[in-house]
Amino acid sequence: MKTDGVYRPSDTIAAEATPPGRGGISVIRVSGSIARGSVGSLLDRELPEAGCVKFGTLNRTTRTGNKELIDEVVLTYFCKPNSYTGEDVIEISTHGSPIIVAEVLEELYKQNVRPARPGEFTLRAFLNDKIDLTQAEAVADIISAGSREAAEQAKRQLKRGIGRATNALAERVRDLLVQCELELDFVEDDVELVSREERREIVQGALDDVGTMLRGYKRSRSLREGVKVVILGPPNAGKSSIFNALIGEARAIVNPKPGTTRDVIRAETYIDGVCFEFFDTAGLRQTSDDVEDEGMRRALTAAKESEFRIEVYSPDTQMPDGESCKDIVIVVNKADMGVSNFANRYLLTSALNGSGIVQLKEEIYKRAVGNDLPGEGTINRERHYLLLLKVKEALHRTLIGTKEDYPAEMIAEELREALGGLDEITGKKGLNDLLDAIFSGFCIGK
Ligand code: GDP
Repeated sequence: MKTDGVYRPSDTIAAEATPPGRGGISVIRVSGSIARGSVGSLLDRELPEAGCVKFGTLNRTTRTGNKELIDEVVLTYFCKPNSYTGEDVIEISTHGSPIIVAEVLEELYKQNVRPARPGEFTLRAFLNDKIDLTQAEAVADIISAGSREAAEQAKRQLKRGIGRATNALAERVRDLLVQCELELDFVEDDVELVSREERREIVQGALDDVGTMLRGYKRSRSLREGVKVVILGPPNAGKSSIFNALIGEARAIVNPKPGTTRDVIRAETYIDGVCFEFFDTAGLRQTSDDVEDEGMRRALTAAKESEFRIEVYSPDTQMPDGESCKDIVIVVNKADMGVSNFANRYLLTSALNGSGIVQLKEEIYKRAVGNDLPGEGTINRERHYLLLLKVKEALHRTLIGTKEDYPAEMIAEELREALGGLDEITGKKGLNDLLDAIFSGFCIGK
């Protein structure tokens, strides 16, 4: 396993755990078997007891043998296995200065402690069974969360949401596999431990659960990465004005001349803690202008890449035949000009006086997020999603196999594949290349 090479779990590692730079305090984390010894050799007194905090001074020894103050610090000692990594951990809080941090680390590195690689503390927590792989991913997600909802979701995952749901599912598949394998052992005697009907029900139940987990993925990804919404419609309907009203600033040029917006303009804004990315686009119309033509092409590309579309019309433009649907909100803007005949069918706004903008935001939020936020076992990483798709396919083949009375070996093979996928999600299997990919995305010190 790669962890034996680059990472070497037997090394003691250290790194700054707080963001680099000046601040109130900086925290240096030291983890491993010689954490105590190395920090202790710099300290002017005994180290704190396990779970305790102590004030002290760290000193280095000069070439002439004199002691020289590095900093006054506060030390916290977490005794193995009750620490983040599962090893002996000492956290040193120094004054928030990059120079002091560098000095402390330099003294530690002189004593067989080496710099931690990105995510290495969390990797050790995983290797020492403090957390499963989905929780390690959740740590990275909490750090990088760009919205309140994304952070909430990562917290649910950190509390083992996905791991628990996946393990429960894996347990059921494992039970079934064991029964299949037992039947294989007694194949001569034609023993049937679980009836065909019962087996079918169990597989169908597992498939339903996988389906639920997969369905939540799209929404949870939106919450994590933001929801893309494109604004389309004929020129002059007020798209740029609505765009500006939605983001709360005058980013796009508003002009009575049709064809003002040529390129796609992008801006982010938060609605109830969820990040929305809005795209203002060129108006769609017949034109012989090359630049405007290119603008329209870009508008249509943006539309393809977005989850939602706001179609803006004004009372004097031709209205579409269709109604608002799941992914499209049709808006009739310039309601201040009087648009009573559209009132029942479409959402009315006036970017000029601001009416209807709050309702438009509510509508987009409702469609993107809905009332039921992703639950405990909702997956939110593509890695989980792709593995679950494989699990689903394998379970599906199992179901067909049970219905059509395939030999137990074939069914067992499919169940093994499903189980493998589930175990890969939690990190019980298939780790070799994965760890580098996951942990290299972390910051150093985590
Ligand atoms: P776009 O070409 O669809 O992006 O439209 P703009 O946002 O550039 O607006 C075109 C013209 O319509 C400008 O003169 C705006 O001031 C005007 N306009 C935009 N929204 C409204 C509105 O709600 N009411 C009225 N009366 N005029 C508006």
